Order: sequence, then C-alpha cells, then structure tokens
Amino acid sequence: MDLNTKLAILADAAKYDASCASSGGTPRDSTQGRGLGSNDGTGICHSYAPDGRCISLLKILLTNFCLYDCLYCVNRVSSNVRRARFTVDEVVQLTLDFYRRNLVEGLFLSSGIIRGPDHTMEQVVEVARRLRQEHDFRGYIHLKTIPDAAPELLQAAGRYADRLSINIELPTEAGLAQLAPEKDTAGIRRSMARLRVHIDDARGEAAEAAARPLRFVPGAAPRRAAPPAFAAAGQSTQMIVGADGADDATILATSAQLYGSYRLKRVYYSAFSPIPDASSSLPLAAPPLVREHRLYQADWLMRHYGFEAREITEGGGGMLSLQVDPKLGWALAHPERFPVDLNRAPRELLLRVPGLGVKAVDRLLLARRVRRLRAEDLKRLRVPTRKVLPFVTTADHRPARTAAGPAALRQTLAPEQAVLF
Ligand code: SF4
Repeated sequence: MDLNTKLAILADAAKYDASCASSGGTPRDSTQGRGLGSNDGTGICHSYAPDGRCISLLKILLTNFCLYDCLYCVNRVSSNVRRARFTVDEVVQLTLDFYRRNLVEGLFLSSGIIRGPDHTMEQVVEVARRLRQEHDFRGYIHLKTIPDAAPELLQAAGRYADRLSINIELPTEAGLAQLAPEKDTAGIRRSMARLRVHIDDARGEAAEAAARPLRFVPGAAPRRAAPPAFAAAGQSTQMIVGADGADDATILATSAQLYGSYRLKRVYYSAFSPIPDASSSLPLAAPPLVREHRLYQADWLMRHYGFEAREITEGGGGMLSLQVDPKLGWALAHPERFPVDLNRAPRELLLRVPGLGVKAVDRLLLARRVRRLRAEDLKRLRVPTRKVLPFVTTADHRPARTAAGPAALRQTLAPEQAVLF
C-alpha cells in the first residue's frame, strides 16, 4: 500500500478523536539555526473535523488495526474498515515533510492496539524519540497514551511529548464495561494518576531550578541547568457523549472529579458519531451537536467561573438546556441572586452575571475603583448590555421586574441564543 493511501486511511481514522487541541508547552524554537520547528504560541489549528471543529496538527493513527472491540469505535477488531499501518520511520518522515512544507506545526499521534499495549506504546514513543533526538524537532507533539502500557513507557512518552492524553471514553464505569469491555476504568485512572505525579514532579523541579542562583562560567552566557521537562502542556482526556445513557449531570460530575484528582488540562467532549455496522447497543442517531457545545460551556463555567458541576445541571432533570447557555439557565433559575450591584458586588458574584466574561469582570473591577459605574459605561467596557442589564444594577439603572419574571426574560433572551446554533 502506498504512503498516500495509508495517510488517507489513518488520518480519516483519527478524526473521531477530539482531544487534540494544543496549548501551553515548553517554548522551543530553532531561530538560532539549530533544530527544526517551533512550538511558540498556542492553538495549532490546521485541520478541521467534518462538522467544522478545529482538530489541528498532522493528526494520524500509527495503525487502525486494533485488538480491542470497543463498540463505539470504527477501528474495533470486529469492524470491516480498510486497515493500514505506518512504520515508525514513515510517521517521522511524514511529520518532517508536512512541517517543512509549512502545513502543520506538530503531530498528534494515536494508535489502535496491536500485539499489546506495551508494543503499541513503544512504537508511539519511538516516533517521538526519533523526532526529538535524531531530528531535533521542536514542534508540538501530542501523544495518545495506552493506559495499560508499562509505567516506564508512559514516563518516556512524557519526556518527548508536550501533551499526553488518555481517553476516559465514557463517564461511568458501567458504561465503559458495557461498550468497551477490554478497557478498565481503574487502569485508566491509575495511568492518569501516574502522569499527574510525573507532571507535578517536573513542575516542582522547574520551580526549584528557577529559584537557584545563576551559574557563571567565564566566557559563557550565565545560565541555569534546566531540569528535564515532562509533558509541559499537561494531560487531557476525551469523553464520548451520547453513546451510553449517561446524562449531562453525570458527565460533568466525572469531569469535575477528573480535574480535581488528576489536574487535567482539559476534558474534551465528543458527540457520538454513528459508525458503519454498529452494535445494536448503540443509539442509531448522533446526539444534537448543541449538546456537546453546552457541555463545553458548562465545563468552562467550572474551570473559570467558580461553578460546581451539580449547580449547573440542577433543575433540568440532569440535562443542560439546549435553548439557553448554562450560565443564563442558572441565572434564570436563581432570580433571588439578582440583580447584582455592579459597583459593590465581589468578583465571584460578577462572574455569575450572564454576559460578563472573565476579562469584562476584570475591566469592571478596575473601572469602578475610579468612578461609580453607570449603564452607559458598560458599552465603553465592551459588555453586551442587552444581556447584562436585566441582571445588574448600576448608579442609574435598576432592572424592571415583570409579573412573568424569569419566564419573560427567557423569552426575550433565548431566541437570540437559539439562532447561534
Ligand atoms: S482500543 Fe481504541 S482504537 Fe481500539 S477499539 Fe478501543 S477505542 Fe478503538
């Protein structure tokens, strides 16, 4: 099979994995004439999923052969898709060629499980090792790790990759046992815990090194010995939404637990895509894409706005509203918490106002140090007044309350939300 055919098969097989967005990483570049590439900046986004989501990088599988039979996966052993397999050398050369042609800034490499977890992981690590050590590649590398692989292989992966991910796949142990019988929740979590320890250790060593005095060697620029990096952009995971019966409350509770226990950088939500010759245990249709979008919004609220998972889904029977975003939904369900006084409320309360983002809140806090805020100031602070004013008071504004209360407000604000999707 020629390389282009393999590329077509193995890039297509990788498109179902959404957990590849990039951010962070150790700054690395080749501007001094050594090495190849750069991973400066964030958000490497060069390719898009069929539904328009950015999935970035040279995103391929090493192989789509797989010993496992995860029912939701197009590459499972019982699937009759066309199979292909790259050699390590082919992946290395492809990455370098794509990079030199300015098509990508890095590699996202995953794989079906061949021969066993250790054998697969060895090959994945070898790609990264060759890129880094033999070709001095300084671009971004994201490796999908195989949870059951030996700890020393996971450790080696972290030395070469900017980011590592292990997919949790389903929000509950029961869901995983039903749809991915060979996978083991405990094993996945054990691997996440190991990665967390290595990442924490590497950060601790980096902080200690930064605090040490500079070494001066006559005739050379002063420098500190840098400790070895380990997956500087952290670890992430992916959960498939809508393949099992788990509701949004369960999904968000699992995410909150993953963030808390393993300090994941991101949890990605991937709406289940019906696959050819699917098992009868799977739903026939994909969930609405807006459900995935609402979960991302809710996830954002947990990570940046101080919301707890259970608050976001309370009152909705465990599901997020598809009509209004989760923050607006929470505000409409809690009229007793509003209006919020923009001139006096603490930051955490301002963050709960629909339409006020983190940056807008920081600008408001600065502005109110020097003057009492009025409704017209919101425009100058680039705040969406139509959305914000019903929930706040200012020196010259108090929102009118109708007898219909939140229901009327939902009617006013929801149509605009709905047309976005
Ligand atoms: S182990 Fe990965 S590639 Fe193999 S069937 Fe399961 S999800 Fe698919």
